[in-house]
Amino acid sequence: MKALCVTEAKKLEFLEREKPELKSKNDVLVKIKAVGICGSDIHIYHGTNPLATYPRVIGHEFSGEVVGIGDSVTKVKIGDRVAIDPVTSCGECYACRTGNTNVCQSLEVSGVHTDGGMQEYIVVKEDRAFKFDPEISWEEGALIEPFTIAAQSTSKGDIREGDTVFIMGAGPIGLGILQVAKLKGARCMISDFNEYRLEIAKSFGADYVFSPAKEDVFKVVENFTGGEGANVVIDAVCIPQTFEQAVLVASPAGRVVLLGFHAEPSKIAQLNITKKGLEVKGSRLHANKFPEVIEWFEKKKVNAGKLISHRFKIEDIQGVFDLIENDPSKVCKIVVTL
Ligand SMILES: [Zn+2]
Ligand SMILES: [Zn+2]
Repeated sequence: MKALCVTEAKKLEFLEREKPELKSKNDVLVKIKAVGICGSDIHIYHGTNPLATYPRVIGHEFSGEVVGIGDSVTKVKIGDRVAIDPVTSCGECYACRTGNTNVCQSLEVSGVHTDGGMQEYIVVKEDRAFKFDPEISWEEGALIEPFTIAAQSTSKGDIREGDTVFIMGAGPIGLGILQVAKLKGARCMISDFNEYRLEIAKSFGADYVFSPAKEDVFKVVENFTGGEGANVVIDAVCIPQTFEQAVLVASPAGRVVLLGFHAEPSKIAQLNITKKGLEVKGSRLHANKFPEVIEWFEKKKVNAGKLISHRFKIEDIQGVFDLIENDPSKVCKIVVTL
């Protein structure tokens, strides 16, 4: 079978690989149909993801058809459409024992630590395969994983009905978070420098959208919240400065949720956290959010299809990276089909 590998930074190659086989009774063989392109894939391609090793088959957002099952598999059957949870955890460490499998000590993510979706077939344990309704397209099915990020970060932010929520960044993740926050009954403002993405945010019911290039973040939050501050701030921009702003614009008893992997420190005074009793939380991947997200998809409570700005066939993969490099202003979510 063919597998698309990043063999070294900035080098993509189609390699011929052995088609994987079922090895244990609870294995599932999946023929991969669609893969979402994520920021972290781009980082692996550019050689700037410290967690990745090479050669690597990238892609951690993917859907496919079940084409083989082990003897004891009951969760899915041949012909089912499934989304694959890219996360593997040990089940034994402190994080796993407390339900935080997303930060397992020996965490492995398909497409980062192990090979991911940009290949014709993959074998996974049945607990990582989640069936979805045939009404959901392969492309949308590939976006179930990014919505688990939204599910995780909004639950970390403990968003309640009527809360004011400030989402920094209207990329695919920020736009997913917006949809979930609206689903939970929050009033949402969202920022981005990209006007095209702000337009999409409006269509998802954002209560206020703005570009920090045109409006002052502090004034916007003050006006939107009647001077109270935002009850929940989710930083999907992930630079040192946005963390600093998030702490300053959060309301007393507010929650600040971080998604970034920046190693550079932010300058934050203890006073601003302690005085307001803020909870500052990191949100990585997801812990058991696939069932909830699939229910949102099946009941059409979120719209993943609207995030897709471009579709590519895997043969044209170089075009994906060229597009992102040369003309990113109209890019939201890119999905690659196999
Ligand atoms: Zn992703
Ligand atoms: Zn563990």
